[in-house]
Amino acid sequence: MPIHNQLCGMAVMIVILYMFLYQKRIGLYTEMVFLRTLVITMICVTLDILSIVAIWNREQIPGWLLDLSCKSYVVGLVWVGYLALTYVMTDMYSEQEYYRSTRGATIIAALESVVIYCLPIAYHVDGNVIYTEGPCILMTYLCAMIFLVWTIVMIVRHRRQIEFKRRLAAIAWIGMWVTAALVQFFNNQLLLVGFAGSLGMMALYCILENPENNVDHKFGCFHTHALNAYLEQCYGRKERKSILILSINNRLRRDVSIESSDEYLRKLIRWFHTLPDVKVFKNIDRELAIVFPDMTAMSHAFSKLQETFYYDHFYNLARGDRAVNDGRDVFPETLFILFPDTQLMADMDEMMMVHQALYAEHCNRVDSFVCYVNDAALKKIRSENQIVKEIKDALAEDRVEVFFQPIYEVKQDRFSSAEALIRIRKKDGSLLSPGLFIPVAEMNGLIERLGERVMEKVCMFLKSHDLEALGIHYLEVNLSVVQCGQRNLADRYLEIMRRHEIDPYYINLEITETGTTQSKKTLLANMNRLIREGVSFSLDDFGNGQSNLDYMIDMPVAGMKLDMNMTRAYFEDLKAKMVVQSTIRMAHDLDMFLVAEGVEEKEQFEEMVEQKVDYIQGYYFSKPLPENDYVAFLQSRQAG
Ligand code: C2E
Ligand code: CA
Ligand code: CA
Repeated sequence: MPIHNQLCGMAVMIVILYMFLYQKRIGLYTEMVFLRTLVITMICVTLDILSIVAIWNREQIPGWLLDLSCKSYVVGLVWVGYLALTYVMTDMYSEQEYYRSTRGATIIAALESVVIYCLPIAYHVDGNVIYTEGPCILMTYLCAMIFLVWTIVMIVRHRRQIEFKRRLAAIAWIGMWVTAALVQFFNNQLLLVGFAGSLGMMALYCILENPENNVDHKFGCFHTHALNAYLEQCYGRKERKSILILSINNRLRRDVSIESSDEYLRKLIRWFHTLPDVKVFKNIDRELAIVFPDMTAMSHAFSKLQETFYYDHFYNLARGDRAVNDGRDVFPETLFILFPDTQLMADMDEMMMVHQALYAEHCNRVDSFVCYVNDAALKKIRSENQIVKEIKDALAEDRVEVFFQPIYEVKQDRFSSAEALIRIRKKDGSLLSPGLFIPVAEMNGLIERLGERVMEKVCMFLKSHDLEALGIHYLEVNLSVVQCGQRNLADRYLEIMRRHEIDPYYINLEITETGTTQSKKTLLANMNRLIREGVSFSLDDFGNGQSNLDYMIDMPVAGMKLDMNMTRAYFEDLKAKMVVQSTIRMAHDLDMFLVAEGVEEKEQFEEMVEQKVDYIQGYYFSKPLPENDYVAFLQSRQAG
């Protein structure tokens, strides 16, 4: 009996099936589709063998049984064609679209099967050569061709959605079928189709579906690409999962070598693999993503993890002391981000964005190692993202504006200065206030560009007005904490002033104390360079939060600004009054000028004058004004 090819094919597929089932799989839908395709191809080859056996023994069996077995085999071939089509479709559509799109194909395959069963078939036996022919066989070729062309059209039309490897694998698979079918069509003694089917499955397996392809062998878990594919499926098919992302903390990275952090990660991976229903992925950098079927499983595992491994930082935080390390391994500082439900996020991109935002926020903090992605956190991240977009658009479309709040100089009885305050003009014409977007810009690396834009606008303002006539001696410009740590800050700012031909003497930069504690050395270098060119500095928000007196001694500041809250407290609290009074005295003793901020009422103004404050700023005179209004304000007020 000429069934050697088929038996060989069967052997190949049994090996593939065994390996596929034996290996660790992620649980992707495409894996299921592959398994289905493999099993149906095996059934088809089995039917092929049975049909040859039937023809070989046609004398002993009834005619209808012979027809049935031969026709079942060719119908099987049509269904393999159908599988090729649905297989390439898995990458193109979401679950619902997939079912909708494949329904048509299923109906066509079913109709074709009925037609094939109804058409007559003939058998040829010539010594050891056996083959079938007749309308039934021609119809089979036609039907298989329909699916083939359909599949190729799909691959070409949706080539962007189908992963390159899947396209390659599908083409290799189809190519083998077509070659075998053509050979068999013109030389019908060569029964190659069944065997070619098994070779096609082997190509699919090797190129695409070998579960080994998803494994990071260094760590013994799935790798980043597998995580992406898995998450894409979760979102595409709206599956709910809980995910724990664990990163060896940025702040301590310098102290933990790559080798030892890899070792920690491997220990963790081994531990997670002991839990049921858990998938572990090694992400880029020193990060693991662990997928749980639900929130309960994740919480349970997370508390068990803290019992099993010793994380010093947890104890420091929770109990204010170090717990006894009772022989457990000490693990380096790790940031845990817990996603209780993947479906809280709209898609994978949003999930990545949320992860990045939380990582950026927490990786350098000393007080927080665990963050839960709940509705509140998501809301915050989404609105921040919106603000980031708003800032970028405003920068690109020149909607960053500078308002000026006049500052009154007591001795001269004139408005000799102003504070430049940034605004973003939204597309609808309304204004976005800096309190909303400055902190976001500081976190997202946009503050440098905003700061430079403000400096540009301030210089343009100074350049385009007769400062002498307006009575402007200098302008105050805010400098963010983050900018203070920028090495080339002084060069950039001096370059802007030079380009606009502005004497640096006109610029006073306001800095806050937090700026100094973080990047004191860089700030000092910047300050000294700018001061040499004529720029002066003042200390903003004095009396707000952590006021360091030694800061006033260390930093070359020319003046200080009393925080609005201090100015207010002065009138409400005797103690505060005394603090303000001695601050004023101290500033003068140190040869610094003093600005009182947030003066809103006449009584406050008079008291500040009484106390010999040098400059006064506040709504009592004016709110921050757009450029033209500020100039008009000066023109009307300076005369008097
Ligand atoms: P700040 O530097 O302390 O600026 C003073 C803030 O107090 C301004 O708010 C001003 O409008 C407000 N203010 C002034 N006088 C009064 C008053 O009498 N009563 C009340 N209730 N408020 C008064 P604004 O413009 O919303 O700015 C908020 C903060 O945003 C600023 O606080 C500053 O920290 C930051 N900022 C503003 N412009 C820039 C900038 O160009 N760069 C940087 N890095 N930060 C800026
Ligand atoms: Ca300020
Ligand atoms: Ca201030």
